[in-house]
Amino acid sequence: MTTAIYPGSFDPITLGHLNIIKRAAQIFDEVVVCVMINGGKNAPLFEIDERVELIGRTVARFPNVRVDSSDDLLANYARRFEKPVIVKGLRAISDFEYEVQMALNNKKLNHELETLFLAASEKYTYLSSTIVKELGRYGADLSEFVPCEILSEVQERTKERR
Ligand code: ADP
Repeated sequence: MTTAIYPGSFDPITLGHLNIIKRAAQIFDEVVVCVMINGGKNAPLFEIDERVELIGRTVARFPNVRVDSSDDLLANYARRFEKPVIVKGLRAISDFEYEVQMALNNKKLNHELETLFLAASEKYTYLSSTIVKELGRYGADLSEFVPCEILSEVQERTKERR
């Protein structure tokens, strides 16, 4: 069974992330969206468990998608799957350098591990969790940016950040 591992912070999950998940679910037998616990990012909007729950609600309609979280190195985390491939979304050129660097290092740490890049949908090229947090702080309508299943939580939580 082929497994796509889609790692990220997902703080919060956006329609851009969801677009990548949907497309990966059509290519792979299963998709595991993995919230990576990264000590480097401070003051998160949602705690890890909350992010897992919000993603779970969003992907409930896809039978071959599930959610996990990990504080392990991605290259090690991937070892628990039979045929894993890392899936990443590429937005603008700005994503390219960092993502290719990560892909090469992951392959160095785990020789079997390939990374597959999906070009972000044009519609979501300029969408990021950071933009969602920024706009939400000012009370902007986020319905074009985050999945409808989690819209009210994200609106409320971002507004509290003002
Ligand atoms: P963000 O950069 O929004 O904080 P993450 O760290 O959670 O997102 O990113 C996880 C993965 O999702 C990365 O591969 C990132 O490039 C990709 N991604 C983020 N936003 C989008 C988008 N709008 N369209 C496609 N891929 C995206």
